[in-house]
Amino acid sequence: MSRIILRKAKEIFDKTPLNKILLKRKLIETKYFMPSEYIVETTNFCNLQCRLCDNPRLKRKKENMSFETFLEIFYLIKSSAKSIDFDLGGEPLINPDTLKMVKVAAKEGIKTSLATNAHFLNKENINEIFDSGLSNIFLSFGGMTKETYNFYHAGGDFEKAKENITALCNEKKRRGATSPKIELSFLVTRKSEPEIPLIKKFAKEIGVDVLLLKSLHHAWVEDKEDIFTPKNKRFIRKPTTIPCAWSQKMVIYVNGDVGICCYDQHGKNVYGNILKEKQAVWFRNYKIRERIFNRQYEMCKNCSQGANIGQRINLRKKDG
Ligand code: SF4
Ligand code: SF4
Repeated sequence: MSRIILRKAKEIFDKTPLNKILLKRKLIETKYFMPSEYIVETTNFCNLQCRLCDNPRLKRKKENMSFETFLEIFYLIKSSAKSIDFDLGGEPLINPDTLKMVKVAAKEGIKTSLATNAHFLNKENINEIFDSGLSNIFLSFGGMTKETYNFYHAGGDFEKAKENITALCNEKKRRGATSPKIELSFLVTRKSEPEIPLIKKFAKEIGVDVLLLKSLHHAWVEDKEDIFTPKNKRFIRKPTTIPCAWSQKMVIYVNGDVGICCYDQHGKNVYGNILKEKQAVWFRNYKIRERIFNRQYEMCKNCSQGANIGQRINLRKKDG
């Protein structure tokens, strides 16, 4: 109940002029400082063709970021970075060097995270995950039956993903480890909605830290209302009008290009390349960040940036 009140209070606060002033102040700081939050795309290859994902339609060249390229980028961002997310338009564990990159960042005390479809988890890289110092891992798992799972994660192997997710949780228990925090992400569609009780049971049994019942961005479903739209409207993310927080974060594509936000999977609004321009890519483009802040790109219309991304169930807290 108190969480609902807090959420409502946040929604109200987000709309106040005071919030806009505070955010604007943060934006102005970016004239003088590099950002503290980064997304680094270590690969744009993916093994799946999830129904609402842009990856299967990417026109960008598909490639893995080399470890050397990452180090070059890392050298430019490490003094300002507080967090790095290691995925954007692909499956990060396809790149055999992703966890090595995580290790480099974690060693510097930077918070690290990645989202995976779990197909490439195996004994070896599960050990590497724990040894890397990864802070958060998000496991995307959109169905509790083979049919529902494959309805969304086209090309996926339901049993394999389930087994690998379980193996990761078992290893965490075996080690008595506190990190990474494991978050199971269950996209709620009309098809998967009836399976919510099953995913709750599964999440509890295997011992994930958090279960996210992830809402659907309304723009993902606008042409496909009947098949995808959940009946419970709380699982549809509505458009927002608050200033965009991506004006203070940097998105770095696999080739070093810098883009406006994580929704731009196709890289339509790239504004420079960090490998070529170094930190100047950030400082020279304050006007672009103002445009992001004011949501002046075509794709900003109807964007639900800043909205609640779903219902987060903290299972550790309940157990403890
Ligand atoms: S696993 Fe992720 S990147 Fe790959 S197709 Fe699915 S949603 Fe897209
Ligand atoms: S589409 Fe626009 S409003 Fe939405 S996250 Fe990207 S820059 Fe921000």
